[in-house]
Amino acid sequence: MASRVGLLLAPSSSLARNPPRARLPYPLPSHHLGRPTYRRFASSAPLRSPLWWPRQAPPLFSARAMSGSAGSPPYAAELAAAKKAVALAARLCQTVQQEILQSDIQSKADKSPVTVADYVHVGSQVLVSLALNMEVTSGSFSMVAEEDSEDLRKDSAEEILEHITDLVNETLAEDGSYNITLSKEGILSAIDTGKSEGGPSGRHWVLDPIDGTKGFLRGGQYAIALALLDEGKVVLGVLGCPNLPLASISNLNGSSSGDQMGALFSATVGCGAEVESLEGSPPQKISVCTIDNPVNASFFESYEGAHTMHDLTGSIAEKLGVQAPPVRIDSQAKYGALARGDGAIYLRFPHKGYKEKIWDHAAGAIVVTEAGGVVTDASGNDLDFSKGRFLDVDTGIIATNKQLMPSLLKSVQEAIKEKSQAPSPL
Ligand code: AMP
Ligand code: MG
Repeated sequence: MASRVGLLLAPSSSLARNPPRARLPYPLPSHHLGRPTYRRFASSAPLRSPLWWPRQAPPLFSARAMSGSAGSPPYAAELAAAKKAVALAARLCQTVQQEILQSDIQSKADKSPVTVADYVHVGSQVLVSLALNMEVTSGSFSMVAEEDSEDLRKDSAEEILEHITDLVNETLAEDGSYNITLSKEGILSAIDTGKSEGGPSGRHWVLDPIDGTKGFLRGGQYAIALALLDEGKVVLGVLGCPNLPLASISNLNGSSSGDQMGALFSATVGCGAEVESLEGSPPQKISVCTIDNPVNASFFESYEGAHTMHDLTGSIAEKLGVQAPPVRIDSQAKYGALARGDGAIYLRFPHKGYKEKIWDHAAGAIVVTEAGGVVTDASGNDLDFSKGRFLDVDTGIIATNKQLMPSLLKSVQEAIKEKSQAPSPL
């Protein structure tokens, strides 16, 4: 296949276009905010069996096959759909990340890697929206997600939109689960299914199409994070972490040991948490570590100093008696790693004025709590995902096991008090 990043950056005249496959049967209104039209298309075009749809890569997860059976656990169909959606988006992200790292675009001033990352965010969001709509066919569809189509609807973005469309359609064709080719208008409509405000009633999917963009661009950790809110509560979460080893990263400071890469964490309320490969290996139950002495604990935090106050987290760890240096990795991969006991504590203390978004924590929080952990703000309050697109948290977010939480909270409050009383560096 042609380089996707090449496709993204090349002038449109040089694009190697795929032969058209089935197209959406009618044009969409330019600001279509309801259920995407491809659902109607899907109902008239049943899924083709991957067995007679020759593709290089095998299709990811078979959500349809897993849903709807009698006696299945709550949200089983939604969980299967979410896994399928995240794995599909991860496939797109992985390909683009490899090509970013292999290319020299980081050094080209006119081809900002941030712009490339934006394409990938949008592509990931479109694929998740599409897969959810194809797999979950009952009820209304609402999604709270990071991206919208405003910039892409500008005339100047015509070429970029064309590139994103190619990227999405190539990923769909490679997977082979859906006999669909999206038009540019279909792409814009799919992006805008993420405009929901969420809130305390009804069901809302919550998506971060690429959490940890800086890690993504560095070749480090990132996650596709998808959760479902039902009446204001997170009821399921899926975290796709393409660069996290499937096995534990304890003692590795977040780096790979050469083992199988790619972990997909999932959790449903009341049913525990699991990890499997991004290709769908048998899921394994996971649980947070049982460490009760902070001397033996390690803690995760953001790689980026701009995202968390490393001085404050250092002070918290010291007060608690943690001996190990921080394990700094990007994205909600931290929640996944914590949930399977790779480390004992996650500390996140953004700089003053930053407002946390629900898509940065919803999936990670349920994976940790269903693995037996606790996630709260710095005052010990549960996170409330029912208030719209933002989280109303006091000072920071902490996560650990039940044994360590009381002493962690005490250390957090002491360290915050001390920092607030310290003389200003000016
Ligand atoms: P992490 O990789 O854990 O540092 O977190 C990545 C997420 O932090 C991104 O997806 C952003 O939504 C979010 N973020 C962006 N800017 C900031 C900031 N100034 N402070 C805290 N978080 C931020
Ligand atoms: Mg994010």
